[in-house]
Amino acid sequence: MPLVLPPNVSEKNFQKALDAFAGVVGRQWVLATDEDRNTYMDIYAPGDADEHIPSAAVGPQSAEEVQAVVRIANEYKVPLWPISRGKNLGYGAAAPRMSGTVVLDLGRMKRILDVNERFGYCLIEPGVGFFDLFAYLQEHKIPLWMSVPANAWGSVVGNALERGYGYTPYGDNTRNICGMEIVLPNGDMVRTGTGAMSNSPCWQLFKYGFGPSWDQVFVQSNFGVVTKLGMWLMPEPEATLGLNIQLPNPDDVGWAVDQLQPLRLSGVLQQSPSIGNSLRIVAAQSQRSQWYQGDGAMPDDVLRTVLDKFNLGWWNINLRLYGYDDVNEAHAKIIKAAFAKHTQKQFEIVKWHRGDPIADSGAGVPSATALQIINWRGGRGGHLGFSPVLPPTSEHVLKQFHSTKKRYEEIGVDYYGSFTLFERYTTNINMMIYDRDDTAMTTKVRSLFKVLVADAAKEGYSEYRTHLSDMDDVALTFDFNNHALLRLNETVKDALDPNGILAPGKQGIWPKAFRGARA
Ligand code: ADP
Repeated sequence: MPLVLPPNVSEKNFQKALDAFAGVVGRQWVLATDEDRNTYMDIYAPGDADEHIPSAAVGPQSAEEVQAVVRIANEYKVPLWPISRGKNLGYGAAAPRMSGTVVLDLGRMKRILDVNERFGYCLIEPGVGFFDLFAYLQEHKIPLWMSVPANAWGSVVGNALERGYGYTPYGDNTRNICGMEIVLPNGDMVRTGTGAMSNSPCWQLFKYGFGPSWDQVFVQSNFGVVTKLGMWLMPEPEATLGLNIQLPNPDDVGWAVDQLQPLRLSGVLQQSPSIGNSLRIVAAQSQRSQWYQGDGAMPDDVLRTVLDKFNLGWWNINLRLYGYDDVNEAHAKIIKAAFAKHTQKQFEIVKWHRGDPIADSGAGVPSATALQIINWRGGRGGHLGFSPVLPPTSEHVLKQFHSTKKRYEEIGVDYYGSFTLFERYTTNINMMIYDRDDTAMTTKVRSLFKVLVADAAKEGYSEYRTHLSDMDDVALTFDFNNHALLRLNETVKDALDPNGILAPGKQGIWPKAFRGARA
């Protein structure tokens, strides 16, 4: 990718800034060739790659180097886009919101600074991947479990900062953040919670500290660069008990949600199960052309043949109980009774006891096989995630499911959806899988996305996370009192970041210097 300069920065000053960065991190960690820029583009870009072109990347090795880089960025008014490992696939990967921004790649900062077995926590740097932490825990025989997302290629910090989740009782990763170290946009450094005391033994134990609590202010945010993060980990249980079931009909998702929600709220079910349609599994194991070559979304009768072939339901649910064997058995009885009200189908049971191979446990064992779904349409694949949050009731879920599926069919994309049930909400992840080289297809996908955001907003549903290109649209759906939240966010942004150098446009929050770039 040829160079696109940051807005209002001359080529000469840009070069001076890069030289100054090199003075801090070493010349080899300032990456500014055409090939380097390609590396930091959105590798799944749905036809919008030109809107998010990085001008370079810089890779510091320590928090002190981050501070120095941030100070230089202020001096030359060069914006920075922090990433941990940059695998935010389906949401923009490593690319910045605003073209010309320099990617601040924290992947070299990958120390595991502390793991505390007794209290169940770790303190890590941004570059620590799920695979790294898993290997560390295994190697040191530490009986603590992580909760990993379906594709675990990225970092623990990046995932928690984007509110990603996994499927153990500790699945809501952002909820497990306890204590951060942050480099502010002016180069200053703070620690949150009791980390604000220089000698606190409670930094990773007590979240709140004294006065306002700041951790979540730096989540899905452009107010600071997170250089260390405390994360609670789950103690390995005595046993787990899995209950798997396939539901044959599209509308079965309604009663399944109504049965599972009270069990999730009361704690019979401690993890947040995902009710996913069959394409999640089929697309990871086959290509569309094997089943159907026609235009338009795959017809229902073809889908039925595929389901029979793979022995899948229209919806597939894997529930998992964690804890003491006897308690798991008692909870399993309650879950089976709830399902027996609606189906004769029996659960497939999977049991694990401490000492059995970890792969069968339901622990957060990282894997990247979920990535294979992008081969579904052939060509250079990609996917985009549309993820509204709704109340977990059959009325809301069925209405949203049918209206989304209809929208997919209108443009000829195969429906791919899941509902993950938390105690009081469900996150409805919908993937659109496309061939990046098929411009007609990516154009349709982008227009579908906008329609879906508008449909959801009419119902009062927000998204929990979104792709770079849609951050402004989604931010604007938060419209109470004439967008008071956006005014608050941008007031804080301008106070903390007067030069607007940190991640301009992230989550629709634009600093004064670049506000004209809002979509
Ligand atoms: P992953 O490591 O899982 O691949 P990314 O590095 O792609 O995740 O991070 C996702 C997004 O989260 C980034 O685009 C950025 O906006 C934000 N982010 C990631 N790491 C940091 C960090 N250390 N400090 C501030 N924001 C971050």
